[in-house]
Amino acid sequence: MKQFQYIRPSTQQLVLDAIAKPGSKIIAGGSNLVDLMKRGVMSPDKLVDINKLPLKNISAYKGGYHIGALALNSQVAEDTAIKQHFPLLSMALNAGASPQLRNMATVGGNMMQRTRCTYFYDTTMPCNKRVPGTGCGAMEGINRMHAIFGASMQCIAVHPSDMCVALAALDATVVIQGRKGTRRLKFTDFHRLAGTTPELDNNLGKDELITAVEIADNRFAKNSYYLKVRDRASYAFALISVAAALDIQDGIIKDARLAMGGVAHKPWRLTTAEQVLKGKPATAATFEQAALVAMEGAKGYEHNAFKLKMAPAIITEALKHAAGLV
Ligand code: SF4
Repeated sequence: MKQFQYIRPSTQQLVLDAIAKPGSKIIAGGSNLVDLMKRGVMSPDKLVDINKLPLKNISAYKGGYHIGALALNSQVAEDTAIKQHFPLLSMALNAGASPQLRNMATVGGNMMQRTRCTYFYDTTMPCNKRVPGTGCGAMEGINRMHAIFGASMQCIAVHPSDMCVALAALDATVVIQGRKGTRRLKFTDFHRLAGTTPELDNNLGKDELITAVEIADNRFAKNSYYLKVRDRASYAFALISVAAALDIQDGIIKDARLAMGGVAHKPWRLTTAEQVLKGKPATAATFEQAALVAMEGAKGYEHNAFKLKMAPAIITEALKHAAGLV
């Protein structure tokens, strides 16, 4: 591994000053970054450890909840208020990684984790995300885990997070601190599609810091479900996952949120399918109709075409669970 400097600033301003310099990289739990450094995929000159910053709190504000960027995945998943108000987020977090990793990984780090495309990690293979312009090993290679929505000719990788799928469905907001002040970004605008710049996973500036995620109050707590399909029962990334949240009153769907994981370069919100659900009875037939609409525009590759058949069934199943039909 390349030698690097390590610092642990005690204030947000010192962190912002440090990351403004080229070659610096933030580290929190390190559960992905250290792997990337060991394999030579990322080689920062300086690690800026942000664990001294007071960003671990989970608290209510008028109209929603604030989750600090350094809150651990396990801490958020087990938080009483989160379980009560946003069980979808708790379910998604508990579906991710392993207990040991959830005890290290932070909310901000989870958002910043890189794809698990095997060609990205193999420095002997071409990869436009790791080295722009070198090609895409997965396009004609083994692409079983790869995207069926929003892929580009440059990159067909998927974002690996479960937590982010739930936060996309919950319309969360990302709070970002820069040297010029604070800005807020819709969670669904935080991650990017690959397009012609697959090296960029998200819209965070190199000199910016995620400080929190905020979730507005909603009426989905009673009827939400996170369904993840994977090769093993635990400690595996999603082949496909679905975050489903419904507001059902007198058997009619008043509002709906639907997002998928394991299918795109970012958490994939299914807004057209949400519109199909609204105003309809909460029945299996409605859910099957929405699932078919959700698949519009999907495209498979040599080894992942099975996702095209599997996805509508998983969407339907997640919605049935959310509605209490199974
Ligand atoms: Fe690299 Fe993306 Fe292609 Fe994977 S899919 S090899 S990450 S360019």
